[in-house]
Amino acid sequence: MTKQVLIPRLCVIGVGLIGGSLARALREAGEVGEVVGSGRGEENLRAALRLGVVDRYELDPARAVVDADVVVIAVPLGAIEPVLRAIAPYLKPTTVVTDVGSAKGDVVADVERIYGHVPANFVPGHPIAGTERSGVEASFATLFQGRRVILTPLAETAASAHHLIKRMWEQTGAEVVDMGVRHHDAVLAATSHLPHMLAYTLVDTLARLDDRAEIFRYAAGGFRDFSRIASSDPKMWHDICIANREQLLEMISLFSADLTRLAEAIRSDDRAAILATFQRAKRARDNLYLD
Ligand code: NAP
Repeated sequence: MTKQVLIPRLCVIGVGLIGGSLARALREAGEVGEVVGSGRGEENLRAALRLGVVDRYELDPARAVVDADVVVIAVPLGAIEPVLRAIAPYLKPTTVVTDVGSAKGDVVADVERIYGHVPANFVPGHPIAGTERSGVEASFATLFQGRRVILTPLAETAASAHHLIKRMWEQTGAEVVDMGVRHHDAVLAATSHLPHMLAYTLVDTLARLDDRAEIFRYAAGGFRDFSRIASSDPKMWHDICIANREQLLEMISLFSADLTRLAEAIRSDDRAAILATFQRAKRARDNLYLD
């Protein structure tokens, strides 16, 4: 007797780092039947086929979703609305649709604009895992192992759809947690989106100094650690800034005020304030990680 897999036909639109890694992980877990890929350019999809990440691909997303049990939208945030619009008339009523976008309020607004409401079989999601690389070649099956995936189901979301997407992510070795849409966006603005803004701005500021070659020559491990995420895909992060504008601006204001306060303490030789800031930060960082 053949084993009943969790998802007989999976369609991944955007077979990049996240979409490709999810497809690979589900294949390794033996919980997917056929994987159909779709995306923007044929080159990446051809690579996905060659690497065995997908069984076939369709450039037209409307053709790719036909008879899919689950559709995962893993394109940059700015491309989610046109993709959703293109596939909406071709989904069967039982198809469960999810996404992996890094900001959730914007995706839910996209869905509401298209349908006038959030369909019961749409489950917004966000895996808290990634690297600074992109494309299917960068994808790997263990990306989500031991990591968290946040789902932000709404009151309208069907329990069966929510349960299926939860089980899908659990097959990848991830721990799945639920969160409200606004809470998700506030938490991610603080822990992920602001740090990316800081890394991009720091590297950009230094790169525009006249003696930048000299500066980068003496940059040591600390700079390498801090600046790593500035190598992330600029278009993806552009989309995240726009999508989570409100919550991100709040965090940037908070951080700017604290940085100004530190600059003032340095200017006025307020050594107690400088030391207190660093001690508070060290205590918080040490409690967070054991490395
Ligand atoms: P990626 O590696 O660049 O993959 C994105 C894929 O989407 C590419 O294969 C690309 O195709 C395709 N694509 C781009 N524009 C498209 C369009 N208009 N229509 C159809 N397909 C399109 O990016 P990723 O890192 O996997 O990110 C994908 C999503 O995951 C984003 O929404 C991001 O916010 C979210 N996310 C990323 C991370 C992370 O750390 N990277 C973590 C969590 C969530 P081509 O290759 O042909 O351009």
